[in-house]
Amino acid sequence: VERLQSTPSQATALTTSLCDTAGPRLSGSSGDARAVAWAVETMQRLGLAHVHTEPVTVPRWVRGEEEAHVVAPLYQPLAVAALGSSPSTPDGGIEADLVEVTSLEQLEALAPHSLAGKILFANLPMARTNDGASYAATVPVRRLASVQAALAQAEGVVIRSVGTDHNRLAHTGAQGDHPVPAAAVSVPDAELLHRLLGRGPVRLALRLVTREEPPVQSANVVGEVLGREHPEEIVLLGAHLDSWDLGTGAVDDGAGVGLVLDVARALKELARPPRRTVRIVLYANEENGLAGARAYAEAHGAELAHHVVALEADSGSDRAVGVRVLGGPGAREALRERQRWFQALDVEVREDDAHGGADTGVLRTAGVPQLDLRQDVSRYFDLHHTANDTVDKIDAAQHAQAAHALATLVWFAAEEAVDFGRLMPEQQDTPRREGQAGGPR
Ligand SMILES: [Zn+2]
Repeated sequence: VERLQSTPSQATALTTSLCDTAGPRLSGSSGDARAVAWAVETMQRLGLAHVHTEPVTVPRWVRGEEEAHVVAPLYQPLAVAALGSSPSTPDGGIEADLVEVTSLEQLEALAPHSLAGKILFANLPMARTNDGASYAATVPVRRLASVQAALAQAEGVVIRSVGTDHNRLAHTGAQGDHPVPAAAVSVPDAELLHRLLGRGPVRLALRLVTREEPPVQSANVVGEVLGREHPEEIVLLGAHLDSWDLGTGAVDDGAGVGLVLDVARALKELARPPRRTVRIVLYANEENGLAGARAYAEAHGAELAHHVVALEADSGSDRAVGVRVLGGPGAREALRERQRWFQALDVEVREDDAHGGADTGVLRTAGVPQLDLRQDVSRYFDLHHTANDTVDKIDAAQHAQAAHALATLVWFAAEEAVDFGRLMPEQQDTPRREGQAGGPR
């Protein structure tokens, strides 16, 4: 463990290499294909075993033009981004009065047909927290606003970006697949619309041009550090290779890809590998479908009984603050017994249950125990899903600490004779997303 915690981290270098080689990598794009090639090459260079791709059919949605402005009571262009899978507006765009709602309850209460001829404006602020709890509380707006706009027969829907910054940049994200054109406006613009609505009616023009192409074949990329005693026992360590299209996916989830590959590198540099196999899985299509997670579960169904535990890095590049486990009765006690390993990194061993990430959490229904690395996400939602998600935002010292913490957690799972058990039926439901360990999407 001391070796793993003192090895100079290459997490940021790996992340930078991915982002500068592949660029934005939304599912099915050319960047996605470059990322898959980069991952294969990088895993081979790091000396991983059984490096291969596994096919995943992914959606291919393409952002085109997007423009929004206030028509009345004044002219004001807005910073806007279409939400994933949004259809185009009719040619020439739409123009309509805004109707504002400010809570999920108000959204749910919208009556059928009640917004005919209007644009729905869902304005839910998100607080800055270091644990992602506010993301969990706010992010349902992205899907629900589209669902309710369709029910209420609105012409379009704009949401306040689900983010914590005050830049004039919109945060995109998945919203499902709905018939009403849907976009996010920047937080300053949402606040302006709210003030204007306090004075009287607001008329908005919105024009989105998007394209849904036929599904494309992408891939999960898999490689292993083979266990020295129990190579058939698998500790699954995941991150997602795809990203949104506006930035370069540096913190979401280039940072996580850098972390898991850096852990693999550190394990390969040890004189002897851990007892169990550490399998690195770089997932396709986390952001707009989870097809990669489902394809993995399907392709490896027969082998899931040998997946002793799964964990995932998808919470950005900042420092680790805690670890936690979800498993059989002995697992938490075992983690607690290694408390000093984590204390050395100023990381807390927590008593609450792990959730698993968006990708690895899919394995809960097969009974696979989960570990979470909790990171400080107080900065993360300033950047998440925006054009500002670029590698210059990564603090390499924090990223290195997170890599050391993740390596320690993986060592705990793969080297120590921990019996994680299997998840009981009541542990297999994925809880409501928690933002951080729930794998922000
Ligand atoms: Zn992510």
